[in-house]
Amino acid sequence: MRLALFGPPGAGKGTQSTFLRDTFGLRAISTGNIIRKAIREGHELGPTLDAHIKDGGLVPDEIVQDLAKSSIVRHNFDQFVLDGFPRTLSQAKWLNDFLEAYKVPLQMVIFLAVPDEVVIERLSQRRIHKLTCEPYHLLYHPPPADVDPSLIIQRKDDRPEAIRFRLETYKKVTEPVERFYEDKGLLTKISGLGSNTEIQKRILENLNPSLEYQIA
Ligand code: ADP
Repeated sequence: MRLALFGPPGAGKGTQSTFLRDTFGLRAISTGNIIRKAIREGHELGPTLDAHIKDGGLVPDEIVQDLAKSSIVRHNFDQFVLDGFPRTLSQAKWLNDFLEAYKVPLQMVIFLAVPDEVVIERLSQRRIHKLTCEPYHLLYHPPPADVDPSLIIQRKDDRPEAIRFRLETYKKVTEPVERFYEDKGLLTKISGLGSNTEIQKRILENLNPSLEYQIA
């Protein structure tokens, strides 16, 4: 099964990729998490990556493509769900050519649709666990009492100015990717509103029946 999750920041891609990972035994490949981990662990590209992401901008295509490629290769080109990649038209074309060359094209792109107001509300209330990247929402899904509060942080790009910039970038640079996958007949649009259980149910109901999968 080779899937990608698509949608604006805060649509719930991370949460649903974890769900797909646990349900189907897939590998969740989140370029955002890979980038944050590289920064945290002092990777030589760390300072460059940090400079790109902290204000909500995008990391250059070549760098993200290399990171995504290593992860896809490491997982034998199959049984993965991409989260946050591709998010430019050139990344989408690159990924298409890369996977086609190995005869393992993407099988489905799930578009989690949520309106701007919801994105802003979710991201401004979001906190993450510094080490596991587990996301929390201060009101709806607060960090459990037994988690050390000093490990719960707000991402620099979840501050208000950065959120606005990410939304603008999404509309300008990422939205064209929607059309790219629509034209390929791979895009399934699902509402990202409602409870986690409701969204999971929608995803399962809309999974392409031609996919061969087993519940893990
Ligand atoms: P979100 O989907 O909530 O915006 P992510 O955790 O997916 O957040 O990504 C965080 C940041 O990492 C992005 O704002 C961007 O700077 C960088 N990033 C992640 N994936 C990509 C990508 N495919 N291309 C360019 N930059 C990326």
